Amino acid sequence: MKKVPFVTKEQLDEIVKKYPTPFHLYDEKGIRENARKVYKAFSWNKGFKEYFAVKATPNPAILQIMKEEGCGLDCATKVELMMAKACGFTGHDVMFSSNVTPANEYAYAKDMGVIINFDDITHLKYFEENVGEFPETVCCRFNTGGDFKISTAIMDVPGEAKYGFTREQLTEGFKYLKSKGVKHFGIHAFLASNTKTNDYYPALAKILFKTAVELHEETGADIKFINLSGGVGVAYSPDETPNDIEVIGEGVHKVYDEILVPAGMGDVAIFTEMGRFMLAPYGHLIATAIHEKHIFKEYIGLDACAANLMRPAIYGAYHHITVAGKENEPCDHMYDVTGGLCENSDKFAVNRMLPKIDMGDYIIIHDTGAHGFSMGYNYNGKLRSAEVLLKEDGSTELIRRAETPMDYFATFDYTGLFDRFKDGNE
Ligand SMILES: *Cc1c(COP(=O)(O)O)cnc(C)c1O
Repeated sequence: MKKVPFVTKEQLDEIVKKYPTPFHLYDEKGIRENARKVYKAFSWNKGFKEYFAVKATPNPAILQIMKEEGCGLDCATKVELMMAKACGFTGHDVMFSSNVTPANEYAYAKDMGVIINFDDITHLKYFEENVGEFPETVCCRFNTGGDFKISTAIMDVPGEAKYGFTREQLTEGFKYLKSKGVKHFGIHAFLASNTKTNDYYPALAKILFKTAVELHEETGADIKFINLSGGVGVAYSPDETPNDIEVIGEGVHKVYDEILVPAGMGDVAIFTEMGRFMLAPYGHLIATAIHEKHIFKEYIGLDACAANLMRPAIYGAYHHITVAGKENEPCDHMYDVTGGLCENSDKFAVNRMLPKIDMGDYIIIHDTGAHGFSMGYNYNGKLRSAEVLLKEDGSTELIRRAETPMDYFATFDYTGLFDRFKDGNE
């Protein structure tokens, strides 16, 4: 499917007057429309809730939009919980799906009254010894082990993943938690990431629904919700077919009616924890071409680098590129598009066919709305970029300023040494 940016060259000409490149730009309209589609797809389930995975796009303005669309948040650390709290998410609007969790973070989660999703059976005793009594509602994360395969398109190896309880541990854990007064239970699993098929959630749901019925029979536990977690992918490349959330919702509905309803569990709520599907397509990294280099290959150098978007450098991930204003020109030039880190993996694209790029062209890197800015880092003293929201009325709002050198120096304990840079005139 042809990938079209949500912003035009003319709009960018205006936006860069206020916010110099590079920056991440988010499309409020796209985010809201997609969130509404998700809720519509699962509207058959009374208790449905999407807990947006904060790690995908940890920005209060984005979390606020999620809140207005009825979403909760999925947090994995105390800092993410603090952010959720500051944005007005409390109690069961938050899932705490952490792993290798320190005691003080569990304590913070308990105080906030959020739903704690235990990653391991040994964490139950750890929690009791270091934090205290369990909350009334508790979730446990399931690892099915072995391989998880629906088709050649989707394969992952849960047996190699560090997360979750084994099947036997779930029974043991539920019994133990019940004996300690826990009243309501949830089950959670995340078996495959960035899936490119409408069959992933239904296949996962089938496993979790069967497990829920068994656990209910074995332990008498009152299972209130089943959390399908994240993993629904997006079409990063024009060759891929985007997932259809309507079809996915109906697929889950079908197995729900086949398995849970006949077992008398037709009131179980479905939760999801999507990050990528909620945000990735609605973010662009906007950069400017500042150098061209003609050696053994043709290179285009950008003012953005892997510090702004790490996925190509660490996973070799494909991110589509549009040269703003040249959407309809032939892609008859082959380039490596790079950033300026002293690290040869700092390439946004390798051997990519693009229109002829001129210096000063805006380079739009697609699908950076999730796991984009948030994976950024400061290697080489590269500073994190700004984040800008393109609002529904076409105006823009700076939702995070770009870092300055003083931000980079702020954690050193050399008081005064860097003060001369304070006014930014150096
Ligand atoms: C990362 C993560 C998510 C979100 O994953 P996506 O691939 O962005 O959908 C959800 N739940 C948990 C526990 C995660 O670690």
